[in-house]
Amino acid sequence: MQTLQLRQRDYLLRISRAMTSRLDLPSLLRLILNSAVEMVGGEVGLLVLRQVDGRLAPQAIYGLQPAKAAQVASLLREGSDLAGLGDGSWSLPELSMTLLSAAAGIPLRQVVRMPLRIEDELVGAIYVFRSGGAAFGANERQVLQSFADQAAIAVRNARLYEQVTAEKRRLDAIIENSANGVMILSPDRRVQVMNRALSALTGWPAEEATGEPCWKVLPLENAVGPNLCAAEGLPGLLSEGDPTAPSQAETSLYVEGDLFRAGGSRLTLGVTYTPLYDAEGRLLSIIVNVVDITRFREAEQMKSTFVSVISHELKTPVALIKGYAGTLRRTDVAWDPETLADGLAVIEEEADRLNALIDNLLDASRIQAGVFKLELNDVDLPRLVMKVVDRFRLQTDSHQFEWDFPVDLPSVLADEARIRQVLDNLVSNAIKYSPQGGPIRIGGWQDGSEVTIYVADQGIGIPADEQGRLFDSFYRVDSGLRRQTKGTGLGLYLCKAIVEAHDGRIWVRSEPGRGSTFFFALPQVTEEN
Ligand code: ADP
Repeated sequence: MQTLQLRQRDYLLRISRAMTSRLDLPSLLRLILNSAVEMVGGEVGLLVLRQVDGRLAPQAIYGLQPAKAAQVASLLREGSDLAGLGDGSWSLPELSMTLLSAAAGIPLRQVVRMPLRIEDELVGAIYVFRSGGAAFGANERQVLQSFADQAAIAVRNARLYEQVTAEKRRLDAIIENSANGVMILSPDRRVQVMNRALSALTGWPAEEATGEPCWKVLPLENAVGPNLCAAEGLPGLLSEGDPTAPSQAETSLYVEGDLFRAGGSRLTLGVTYTPLYDAEGRLLSIIVNVVDITRFREAEQMKSTFVSVISHELKTPVALIKGYAGTLRRTDVAWDPETLADGLAVIEEEADRLNALIDNLLDASRIQAGVFKLELNDVDLPRLVMKVVDRFRLQTDSHQFEWDFPVDLPSVLADEARIRQVLDNLVSNAIKYSPQGGPIRIGGWQDGSEVTIYVADQGIGIPADEQGRLFDSFYRVDSGLRRQTKGTGLGLYLCKAIVEAHDGRIWVRSEPGRGSTFFFALPQVTEEN
């Protein structure tokens, strides 16, 4: 017959194999406790582990109701200073044993305690209670101690594994929920991980992108900077094999470029590549961070357009005013009254132009700041158009103004000064962009609850692909005439803002070489309704 010692040795071997392969902490603790109870032939078992707050709490029980386990654990706490106790067989005071037996509902006589230590630190203990049996000898205690040491190592591994898993889950969540696009590439630049934001930017679902080369997923065009995801790749950008190479000191590569998406829209992206190396300097993976800088680029572009347009537009009238004022001031020439009047008229006109430009700029900035107030009154649109046309008629001989209003066009509730600004802009554009002259037809109609006004010219027209952007700020169609005519590209932007502030719409119909018609519709609400 096998001695207890031999059986335990055998058992210990099997159990240590099982323990080292198990990483799920609760099931590992159950395995340890069950084995311990079986090994010493106990009836009841309890495994306690030290918690972050320092208290030892039961983590696995054997042969006990969970409610009773708590009672037993608290008795054990009361009955002993765990840290100060010796190993192995251990007897509690008679009274405690009686109380424990009552709590467990089984007559218990003996308790075996196996402390779980990791490098001298007591992380917990296994208690096995027996109702009888011979006392343990020195060898058996040794076996029990090796079992407890194995168990402690397995517990530590499982805890580390639990920590690593929790950490990984946290990192995964950070990557997945990052507002920036993130992907992780293998050394051969294939996608291993891709987050939601990058899926949204590129239009690639993560499952489809996984395994694909990154130049398929992120095909940047007009790239400026070192692009690791260029189809041909950039050999030598990442040095490999030499851990001391300076380029490996966590250097990131930054590239900017355009991404054209399936629907034809374009994004400007800023992409940072950060290579990760192992201790030997081998490339492990590449972290790719993608930021959508489209709006930033547009704003930058707009700022530079703004500066060039405005400086040009401001400089011209200032130069004219200065030129005329300097000339008229000359004391060595006696100017005849007609020249004087002409010169002063130019100064006045240019000052008006400057003033109008500054007003437009102020309006544009008010729109951007979201403070754009309307003073609403009943406005008789044909009368307003008449006033505008009267003023422009004086400025041109080559254009004929035509009139197309029904007699009963109802008035609208609107800000008259602002609507006049819209009409001024549309009529001035109609003149400006039909340099050969010709008819300019202005009319309107009522349709349901809307009153629509149009201004039609037979000028140069606007190519279809440009029509969508006309109403953007600082947008001017690139043509020979554009370079000859003065303008800031703010006029139609302001028209749109004003019309939309009235809950109206503005649009254009145009054909290059045949002319353009601008329409705007205002809701037909009057003060009475
Ligand atoms: P600006 O006239 O100051 O350049 P706008 O915002 O009024 O700015 O107009 C934007 C652009 O739209 C103009 O530069 C021009 O290219 C085009 N455009 C506007 N009105 C007309 C028109 N009636 N015919 C042809 N092109 C036009």
